[in-house]
Amino acid sequence: MKVTDHIKNANGKTLFSFEIVPPVKGKKIQDLYDNIDPLMEFNPPFIDVTTSREEYVYVDKEGLYEKNITRMRPGTVGICASIKHKFDVDTIPHVICGGFTKAETEYMLIDCHYLGIDNVMALRGDAMKEEQYFKPTDGGNVYASDLVSQIQNLNKGQYLLDDVQGEDKSDFCVGVAGYPEKHLEAPSFMSDLKRLKQKVDAGADYVVTQMFFDNKKYFEFVEAAREIGINVPIIPGIKPIAVKRHLQLLPQIFSLDLPQDLVDAVESCKNNADVRQVGVEWAIQQSKELKAAGVPVLHYYSMGKSNNIKAIAKAIF
Ligand code: FAD
Repeated sequence: MKVTDHIKNANGKTLFSFEIVPPVKGKKIQDLYDNIDPLMEFNPPFIDVTTSREEYVYVDKEGLYEKNITRMRPGTVGICASIKHKFDVDTIPHVICGGFTKAETEYMLIDCHYLGIDNVMALRGDAMKEEQYFKPTDGGNVYASDLVSQIQNLNKGQYLLDDVQGEDKSDFCVGVAGYPEKHLEAPSFMSDLKRLKQKVDAGADYVVTQMFFDNKKYFEFVEAAREIGINVPIIPGIKPIAVKRHLQLLPQIFSLDLPQDLVDAVESCKNNADVRQVGVEWAIQQSKELKAAGVPVLHYYSMGKSNNIKAIAKAIF
């Protein structure tokens, strides 16, 4: 079922969902199942599965290092299919522009359509680790809005080659990313918001936000989005802080601000077990306020570990 239908059917009740990351190549999928299992009692209507960019690896070839390219966490669509059937839950593959030609994206979308996947999350993807800026792939989509257009064309039965007019149309519900504290590359909050409007105008059906730690940022973002005519559901993304290093990493990677009270609480922790507790309590407070404000879904970034998400869900749902 489409995310937008799940939201409609909930009649104003806040739903629980979460995002998982495929295992590193060579690791068993059972670990992923073991982390999803304890969260199923909170009835997530859907689970997101991320897609990672390819990266460079250096292979020792008789003393000379050869630069190779590989995707370390493949399997997004396969994982979506396996979880959908194992847990009887909708799954949402993340589709990214970076590293994929439009033709490869079309094949992935066709796989999703055949598998009965109703939703996809359309993203640009980040720059590769070794690169300072995002470089579009030759023959690939440049921005997430281009990807949304490609998906909507497929929904109309329009495949990439002009002479293929499909009678079997997909009907994907499309999610896109939104940034309460603006995307790190955007010159201003408002220009980023206008880019979000472009994605919605291209056919995005809902927005999931980047993580934020101060609900005020989310509320202001939603208000500003409504003012410029973005009328689709805006789902808040929540991440519990889990290790002290997050104090440096999260602002650096996601260009976001951490509230001073949270920074103080984390800094006063003796070990990472204490940090996890602080992170869980902070996320519970955030979730309570967001739920009281009537958000459609609370979406958690689990990073593959379910203990802290379970503790939060238990307090909220
Ligand atoms: P876009 O919407 O294309 O925007 C990228 C930047 O370009 C922004 O600064 C925007 O303002 C600007 N821009 C947009 N359109 C134009 C235009 N026409 N001209 C000029 N500037 C423009 N990454 C992954 O690799 N895999 C994942 O699975 C994944 N999942 C995510 C899930 C969520 C909920 C979120 C919030 C992020 C996720 N990301 C993921 C990260 C995401 O790929 C990065 O944040 C990326 O840098 C931007 O993606 P986007 O889809 O927002 O890009």
